[in-house]
Amino acid sequence: MSAAERPFAKLLVLDLDETLIHARDRDEPPLPWPAQRQVARYHVHLRPGVREFMSSALQRFVGVGIWTSASTEYATAMLDRLVDRRRLRFIFARDRCTQVWDAEREQTYWRKDIAELHGFGFGPGSILVVDDKPKGLECSHANLIPVRPFEGDPEDLELPMLRRYLEQLGPLDDVRQADKRRWREQFEDEDFDLDVS
Ligand SMILES: [Mg+2]
Repeated sequence: MSAAERPFAKLLVLDLDETLIHARDRDEPPLPWPAQRQVARYHVHLRPGVREFMSSALQRFVGVGIWTSASTEYATAMLDRLVDRRRLRFIFARDRCTQVWDAEREQTYWRKDIAELHGFGFGPGSILVVDDKPKGLECSHANLIPVRPFEGDPEDLELPMLRRYLEQLGPLDDVRQADKRRWREQFEDEDFDLDVS
């Protein structure tokens, strides 16, 4: 295996809702286009390229995990057929998040503290977290790659772009050194083909 093919010695942590999928309760008004799946009481829209993204993530990173503020049962059902779950390091759910009161917005939110990941043997400079809700990562913002929330748009190109960006972050000694807030801008004028894996 050449150096270029060797997986990055980093832990890639992926949020689920609005990062990889968009699940709408069947009581919510449906989108104008059909969902790809029905899971329990949800119509599930898959973020374009999500399966290719997951299989490439598992090839390119030594560790890949899922961290959602939903329940374990929900996450497990949603991940079915998106990824071979046995290859994930973990599926973390709500019990690994802390509920925090946001006084400004007068509502609660779920905080993910990367100290929870301590047991997997990756230092804080080797952990990347992909999430559509930056506030939840306020304790670990230098580890965060913020993504646009996916709400079912079939033209969404976030995952193919992210895949390209991860190739830049993977080789860094300390991923916290890269300013990731405007990562998408460098790819916005490029063409991405969703059919190419
Ligand atoms: Mg989310």
